[in-house]
Amino acid sequence: MADSIECPECGATMDSLDQMETEEITEIEEKPRGGIGYGQATQDLYLCRKCRKPLGVGRRGNE
Ligand SMILES: [Zn+2]
Repeated sequence: MADSIECPECGATMDSLDQMETEEITEIEEKPRGGIGYGQATQDLYLCRKCRKPLGVGRRGNE
C-alpha cells in the first residue's frame, strides 16, 4: 500500500490516505418507483490536506 496521491489542484503529494483529510458523508439513494428503494451508505470522502479538494471516496474498512 504505497500509493501516493497527488492533488491535481495544488500539487500536494500524500503518501497514504492517512495523510489526507477525511470527511464522513452519507449518501442517500432515492428511487422514484416502488415502495422499497431507500438506502443509506456512509462513506469517507478524502480531501486534500492543503486545499481540501475531494480526491476520492472510500467505504470505511474497505481499502
Ligand atoms: Zn490540493
